[in-house]
Amino acid sequence: MNFMSTTTPHIVVLGAGYAGMMTTKRLIQQLAPHEAQITLVNKHNYHYQTTWLHEVAAGTIDVNRSRIMISDVINTKRVHLVQDTVERIKADEKKVLLQNGELDYDYLVIGLGFEKATFGIPGMDEHAFSIQSVDTSRMIRDHIEYQFSRYKTEDNPSDDILTIIVGGAGFTGIEFVGELAERIPVLCKKYDIPRKKVKIINIEATPTILPNFDEELLEYAQRSLKARGVQFRLGTMIKEVKKDAVIVGDDMEEIKAGTFVWTGGVQANRIVGESGFELTKGKVNVDTMLRAPGHDDVFILGDCAWVMNKDTGRPYPPTAQIAIQEADVCAHNIKTMIQGGTLREFTFDDKGTVASLGGSEAMGTVFDGHKLYGLQAKVMKHVIDDRYLFLLGGPGLVLKKGKFRPF
Ligand code: FAD
Ligand code: NAD
Repeated sequence: MNFMSTTTPHIVVLGAGYAGMMTTKRLIQQLAPHEAQITLVNKHNYHYQTTWLHEVAAGTIDVNRSRIMISDVINTKRVHLVQDTVERIKADEKKVLLQNGELDYDYLVIGLGFEKATFGIPGMDEHAFSIQSVDTSRMIRDHIEYQFSRYKTEDNPSDDILTIIVGGAGFTGIEFVGELAERIPVLCKKYDIPRKKVKIINIEATPTILPNFDEELLEYAQRSLKARGVQFRLGTMIKEVKKDAVIVGDDMEEIKAGTFVWTGGVQANRIVGESGFELTKGKVNVDTMLRAPGHDDVFILGDCAWVMNKDTGRPYPPTAQIAIQEADVCAHNIKTMIQGGTLREFTFDDKGTVASLGGSEAMGTVFDGHKLYGLQAKVMKHVIDDRYLFLLGGPGLVLKKGKFRPF
């Protein structure tokens, strides 16, 4: 496949996640059709809300709620959509290899997102579920329900079948157990199983959930989750995963479970490292203009990149919030490279962090550290979700998919 017809620069965007979608939107707004050809490559014909995948995995929202057809929000007269899987980037040849062809580019934007980091823990690849995509999340939902159904049909079933272990109490782990706390009572009713037979256990290596987060908010979160039946094993390292158990701690204790979901950390999509970009702790250190080291025509965004916070000397934790802001700078810089002018440096405008705890529960900080709890925090979380939908697809998309939609 070669979409370059003339000397018009060809911009190829890989991945239709937060970074890829918003970069494409901004490029359309900032460049006239004669100034650049734009191609967006994605595995699926839909974009999904990664920030809602814990809800899909628990079964508290429908899969389709989290999916948005790319062609519904991206002008296909301006952007060539390619539904294909990226296999390799050959930056020295300015080429991208796809499962079904290849693309040449003048400017490349890599927004291929994250995959689970397993840290070489034995059994993790074979036996752990992970909240990584719509498909892996739907598998978790189906597996949990299958365990309930199995419990009802087997002769003398063990209660262990109903135990769900979540490994890692970072934001993903905490948001997921919050959704489980809401979903399990519904499944118990549906399958006529007493709630006390189902265990939700969140295991975390460090002594606290959400390491480095505000103490008061952590206490609130833990109290709320415990009250709805979530058990915590803090300061407990997961050492191995088996088909029906996890091994934890220095004394190699075995905890039996019917479902194990790993939320212990993420790294850049493996294609980035396999394509020769140098990784530091699983991601690429990009420059302040968001370009890959040694490749001024390659921008790496979102969960594939570390962007340094100059004030602290440490990278920002990659989030959707950052990916969306990076897209603005990336599009501006590509436009500038085409039209001339001054490149812009990325600076993060931190609007705060809110974690959902399931149902009407949430907690977090917004606007320079203002703390929010409970329903107030939940409303803020929905405002954040709907703001992104508005940026992507205007009021129509908010009405169709938003958290405040009236139906
Ligand atoms: P993604 O959004 O993951 O998109 C990557 C895209 O690339 C996908 O469309 C994928 O299909 C596509 N792709 C992958 N591989 C290929 C391939 N080989 N070929 C073609 N296409 C491919 N952050 C927040 O700021 N707030 C939150 O509330 C929040 N909640 C979260 C909840 C959960 C459960 C999780 C897992 C994460 C959450 N995050 C949150 C983090 C946030 O979702 C990520 O930082 C964000 O998704 C990164 O955006 P991205 O564009 O880099 O990648
Ligand atoms: P994370 O790296 O933030 O958390 C992983 C957790 O797993 C850590 O607490 C770690 O100590 C623990 N862990 C690692 N190895 C372990 C082991 N062997 N045994 C037990 N525990 C172990 O990963 P995440 O929660 O998936 O988050 C990924 C990114 O997405 C972060 O940048 C996060 O901020 C972002 N995110 C944000 C939100 C939000 O803003 N609401 C929600 C979800 C994710």
